[in-house]
Amino acid sequence: MKLPPWDMLIIVFIFGSCLGSFLNVVITRLPVILMNQWRLEARTALELPVESTPRFNLAVPSSLCPRCESSIAWHDNLPLIGWFKRCGRCAVCKGIISLQYPLIELSGGILALAITFLHGISPASLFIYAACLTLLALAVIDFRTYLLPDILTLPLLWAGLLYQLLFQPYMLSSAVIGAMGGYLLLWSVFWLFKLLTGKEGMGYGDFKLLAALGAWLGWSFLPLLLLISAGLGAIIGILAQVLLPRLRGAPLPFGPFLSIAGWVCLLIGNELVAFYLSLV
Ligand SMILES: [Zn+2]
Repeated sequence: MKLPPWDMLIIVFIFGSCLGSFLNVVITRLPVILMNQWRLEARTALELPVESTPRFNLAVPSSLCPRCESSIAWHDNLPLIGWFKRCGRCAVCKGIISLQYPLIELSGGILALAITFLHGISPASLFIYAACLTLLALAVIDFRTYLLPDILTLPLLWAGLLYQLLFQPYMLSSAVIGAMGGYLLLWSVFWLFKLLTGKEGMGYGDFKLLAALGAWLGWSFLPLLLLISAGLGAIIGILAQVLLPRLRGAPLPFGPFLSIAGWVCLLIGNELVAFYLSLV
């Protein structure tokens, strides 16, 4: 495999970390935007007075310190550089700026490099990169808020079918079956668990996320996706219960594990399957 030149790889990494920076905005603001929207809808449905709130979306207001709410200068907002330059502290109040920001920016850069190494630079690679970034946003949002917003899971599903249509049309029927199977599989587990125990083991967002991964990878990857996500979920869940007693009894979001399984299968799924087949 011929690698792109170094200067190209540096550009790819900078491009990826800039998109990671935008992803931080999505991860931080999207749950707040959705909560505001649901609150507004609930008040309208209940015919309660609707309060006017300051404009808040992905673009407005500009980046603020979460503690003192002072604006963050553009040079302190540069991906990775800004956080390290201020040693992870706000320039005004010296409050701690979460490590999440540089980690997501770094992940954006590393994912861009990984896809360039594995698949080269092409329109198909851009599609796979967009899917990996969406999975990253979903993983962190679900971890922090137990939400897997439809506004991310559903476009991810349709983009998966579009990817198959454009780049590997021979996979289209497998992708459609993968999307249906992914949804119905977890939907069945959800209802079986609910009927047996009276409890809800997962959310509808999990069904939609597995459906989206089924669209991107085809039905044959559903067992591997479930094996990786359930295996990781079980290991992390047991470790969290043992090492962090305060988390005992707290529900564990499934979205981050589905997302990790999605990255693994999108990036090296075919190699994993070929390796497994070489063993049997
Ligand atoms: Zn501050």
